[in-house]
Amino acid sequence: MQFEYIIVGSGLTGAVIARTLCDVGKSVLVIDRRPHLAGNIHDYVHPSGIPIHSYGPHYFRTNSDELWAFVSRFTAFHRYEPRLKSLVDGEFENWPVAGDYIERKLGPEWAPEFSGEAANFEEASMKIMPRLVYEKFVKGYTEKQWGVPANSLSAALARRFDVREDNDPRLSRHKHQGIPEHGYTALVRSMLEGVPTLLNVDYLRAREHYVPGKVLVFTGPIDEYYGYDLGKLKYRGQRRVHEYHPDAGFLQPCGQVNNPAPMNGDHIRSLEWKHMMDPRYARRIQGTVISHETPFTPEDPSDYEYPFPDEANAALYRRYRERADRQDGLLICGRLGEYRYYDMDQAIARARLLARNLLAPPLDSSGV
Ligand SMILES: Cc1cc2nc3c(=O)[nH]c(=O)nc-3n(C[C@H](O)[C@H](O)[C@H](O)COP(=O)(O)OP(=O)(O)OC[C@H]3O[C@@H](n4cnc5c(N)ncnc54)[C@H](O)[C@@H]3O)c2cc1C
Repeated sequence: MQFEYIIVGSGLTGAVIARTLCDVGKSVLVIDRRPHLAGNIHDYVHPSGIPIHSYGPHYFRTNSDELWAFVSRFTAFHRYEPRLKSLVDGEFENWPVAGDYIERKLGPEWAPEFSGEAANFEEASMKIMPRLVYEKFVKGYTEKQWGVPANSLSAALARRFDVREDNDPRLSRHKHQGIPEHGYTALVRSMLEGVPTLLNVDYLRAREHYVPGKVLVFTGPIDEYYGYDLGKLKYRGQRRVHEYHPDAGFLQPCGQVNNPAPMNGDHIRSLEWKHMMDPRYARRIQGTVISHETPFTPEDPSDYEYPFPDEANAALYRRYRERADRQDGLLICGRLGEYRYYDMDQAIARARLLARNLLAPPLDSSGV
């Protein structure tokens, strides 16, 4: 059977596009080379009963009622508003940094050390936070994460940081926040209900068997699609070590503790998954699981997590993108296809837009 659309990747981007096309009666096949659904948001249940996110902690949040209604079609969520801490000078301090910390250390007034056009991440950080905060919370964390000096990274990266004047301990203040009641994999399984899906199939090794009638949607790495012929885009990934402590209740004050200080080891953060559970179920669990994450530069595309934030990689991506945009019947998209970090709500919104564009009638030659 020939499918109108073949979608490579069963992550959020692929699953949302597949669902949107199937909802209007299109024939769709989804292929993934991993042995499981859900791509980077895959999760599983540890023998203790504690759910673990295979590729790092995922906190769902959005301010959009419409997007929340869309995901709620596939799962219920339990409310979870992450509270993070950073281990700084032996103390668990709020992350994002609380007004209270700044006042304790620097008094009520501080002025940014840098003004003007920031040329790199360090200068951009110095525009929005005191040097003390940068050095204690941000510099070490950033250098562990990217494996290079912070002043060699793009200024745009600092936009993700938030320095608080108040002491709100929540990571974010989005209207809707939570974790799917039965996990992210179940969310994707429900989204793909009725959509033919093949796992353990690498599209790039079997292209000739999977030719769509209309469009190939590819959500894997764009440089890999082209055999890296213009060069390889750089990513960072994380190695994860999981420890089960059968006799402990909780070992951390919250689900995520950041470890910015280089002298505390190479790991960047520690997760205690039980904090992320619905408390009604967490109470019944014996023991706890802690995972430590240590960044590295992966060679295997299955380990790709964060696109590398510098101009050389952005320029290389643009060259692949220009080529992809010229090819009819091909849509390369998603976090790996667009070489871009998307939060889950952004990935969903983007995938819905792209799916609607696929369904829109083509413009006539006058452009209308
Ligand atoms: C460490 C980390 C933590 C994150 N935490 C959060 C968070 O807390 N909150 C939040 O909102 N977002 C978070 N995100 C972002 C979230 O993971 C992404 O928005 C989401 O995974 C994007 O989905 P995707 O479908 O675009 O990509 P992916 O999930 O990577 O899906 C791509 C799929 O394509 C498959 N594939 C690739 N190549 C091939 C091929 N040749 N043949 C067959 N299959 C192929 C892959 O196996 C994969 O399953 C986090 C991201 C990372 C890296």
